[in-house]
Amino acid sequence: MDCIFCKIINGELPSKVVYEDDHVLAFHDLSPQAPTHVLIIPKKHISTLNDLQDEDAALVGRLQLTAARLAKEFGFAEDGYRVVMNCNEAGGQTVWHIHMHLLGGRALTWPPG
Ligand code: 5GP
Ligand code: ZN
Repeated sequence: MDCIFCKIINGELPSKVVYEDDHVLAFHDLSPQAPTHVLIIPKKHISTLNDLQDEDAALVGRLQLTAARLAKEFGFAEDGYRVVMNCNEAGGQTVWHIHMHLLGGRALTWPPG
């Protein structure tokens, strides 16, 4: 599978892991856009949000719960933070394995560009 995030999951590519369980991996983004910028991904390869099936509902919930838990661990849960999932070109997606961005540690503006 020619997917960089699958390669990170199976250890072919290095990453700075912050959380891992049977279903989810979280690691620091290579190009951080905030003092803390973590990517939270399912270990199951799913290319885009458009490919999600009903059977993936719990998995998506795990991504969100992992983000909330990591925000507490990083210490910015109360100040506030952002989670983002980009879909396809117009949404800004550049890696075709779904991922949740967790950004925190600075004030974030809205709307995004
Ligand atoms: P997207 O634009 O698809 O929403 O987000 C992809 C993210 O993956 C970007 O923030 C980019 O910096 C990050 N990224 C791309 N390649 C790698 C990599 O090999 N390792 C890590 N840790 N992050 C990556
Ligand atoms: Zn993949």
